[in-house]
Amino acid sequence: GAPASGKGTQCRMIVEKYGLVHISTGDLLRAEVSSGTDIGKKAKEYMDNGMLVPDQVVTDMVVSRLSQPDVRERGWLLDGYPRSYAQAQSLESMKIRPDIFILLEVPDDNLIDRCVGRRLDPVTGKIYHVKNFPPENEEISARLTTRSDDTFEKVKSRLETYKQNSEAVIPTYSDLLNQVLVYF
Ligand code: ADP
Repeated sequence: GAPASGKGTQCRMIVEKYGLVHISTGDLLRAEVSSGTDIGKKAKEYMDNGMLVPDQVVTDMVVSRLSQPDVRERGWLLDGYPRSYAQAQSLESMKIRPDIFILLEVPDDNLIDRCVGRRLDPVTGKIYHVKNFPPENEEISARLTTRSDDTFEKVKSRLETYKQNSEAVIPTYSDLLNQVLVYF
């Protein structure tokens, strides 16, 4: 799913319903960066510039997480990985295949509107939308902030990147594809 496609919410609901381990490469990488590990040091500059972290670094990290006992017992949901043809092929070569591949399809106009109108309450962490889900009162309204990458131009370029990445990955999983059309 693209930025603002509701991927985070769906992932949370799926792991809760099926008792899976949620493995988000974005979250794993941010944890590596904040603990100052070798992986974190390698990843930081790419992440700060909105570029993909080199395939080998991310793949090693994911494979190591997948081999831990909780994942072996409960099963897994990969979120944000694979994001390139090479990453998908690495999993294939290790015979790591999901049972299901879910693609959230949301029209671009919808995604842009959701990003550009998105606001964060820094106090509660709650996400609002100026039109679709406005804050409950003036006090909250006054303290809302906007993510620096939620501007029209940046959202357009993030969507472009998403399209390139998903087109690179989908062919590997065409036999497992479950396409869900979402209109907000
Ligand atoms: P975003 O939606 O902004 O990409 P994520 O939390 O999914 O947010 O990822 C944050 C950053 O972590 C990405 O911009 C990228 O630098 C890195 N990253 C996450 N997943 C991958 C991946 N599968 N391959 C390479 N880099 C990744």
